[in-house]
Amino acid sequence: MRQAASWESVIVGGGPAGLAAGLHLARAGYRVLLVESGHLGGQARGLGRIENYPGFPAGIDGGRLMERWVRQARRWGLRTRHATVRSARRGARGFLLSLDHGRALAARSLVYCPGAPFDDLALPQEKRLRGCGVFHAAFDRASRWSGRTVAVAGGGEAAAHQALALSRHARAVHLICRSGEVKAHRLLRRRLRDNPRIVMSLGARVLRLHGRRRLEAVDVSSCGTRRRLAVDALFVLVGKVPPRLPFPAGRLPPGFFVAGDAAGEDRQVVVAAGSGVKAAMRCIGFLEGRP
Ligand SMILES: Cc1cc2nc3c(=O)[nH]c(=O)nc-3n(C[C@H](O)[C@H](O)[C@H](O)COP(=O)(O)OP(=O)(O)OC[C@H]3O[C@@H](n4cnc5c(N)ncnc54)[C@H](O)[C@@H]3O)c2cc1C
Repeated sequence: MRQAASWESVIVGGGPAGLAAGLHLARAGYRVLLVESGHLGGQARGLGRIENYPGFPAGIDGGRLMERWVRQARRWGLRTRHATVRSARRGARGFLLSLDHGRALAARSLVYCPGAPFDDLALPQEKRLRGCGVFHAAFDRASRWSGRTVAVAGGGEAAAHQALALSRHARAVHLICRSGEVKAHRLLRRRLRDNPRIVMSLGARVLRLHGRRRLEAVDVSSCGTRRRLAVDALFVLVGKVPPRLPFPAGRLPPGFFVAGDAAGEDRQVVVAAGSGVKAAMRCIGFLEGRP
């Protein structure tokens, strides 16, 4: 491993939580580096129009909103690096992080904002078909499904958003929801109901995936009957699992802070931002030796 560069704070993850934490720390005058393995902006970057982020009466495209955050944070001196943090451990003067390609970093404090991974349906063929018709989200690519028939498995707000985004392009979207109702707010439920391209299957579950190289169909059971739906893609949004922390949950070391979806917060951009700022404020307290 190469010699570790040293920072006052390193942020893992460049979604809304990490960017908000980075802006706050950088503007407060600390030397801070944000490490992002994918694209700055995280999930929010691919959301299309966000209608519930305050300050934008007509809504704003998630990608454009995140670009503004990145610009603002960099203006105050936030440094960013494209890399994956593989592991983190306590060192003599803080934390030692190993990145891909044998690179390493040292930091006095660590703000951990990697989001939360999507859950699976736990079907035997799911792993094999992942990326070949089975996806978690269609960020940036909803238009790819123009004129196709697709399905979304899930019954929460993310699944509802995803079904509505896909319905702008796809010929038909089957929303397959295990419970008897979609657990989303009233406006989303109304939009789902009024959308002629969305076919709701409530009290239904995906039993089996078909296709050798690509997904071709799914078996769905509902009300004791089983039917086969020919689909070009299945989007699995059945929930999220807590990310694995580099330290045991009950014994987080001083100087280590978790924020955003990773902290189990309500999954909203504005909440992730608030959570990132809260973590940054605690981090400043730690760096200044205040309890
Ligand atoms: C379909 C859908 C629709 C949604 N619609 C809305 C909406 O309308 N309004 C709203 O407010 N919210 C919405 N959300 C929720 C919102 O997108 C999330 O709550 C928010 O993005 C969480 O921010 P975060 O920073 O915690 O995590 P994320 O946005 O997930 O960002 C985490 C980042 O960490 C990076 N990362 C992970 N591990 C590592 C590692 N080891 N090393 C380096 N980088 C790493 C990832 O690449 C990612 O970029 C929606 C979510 C979904 C799925």
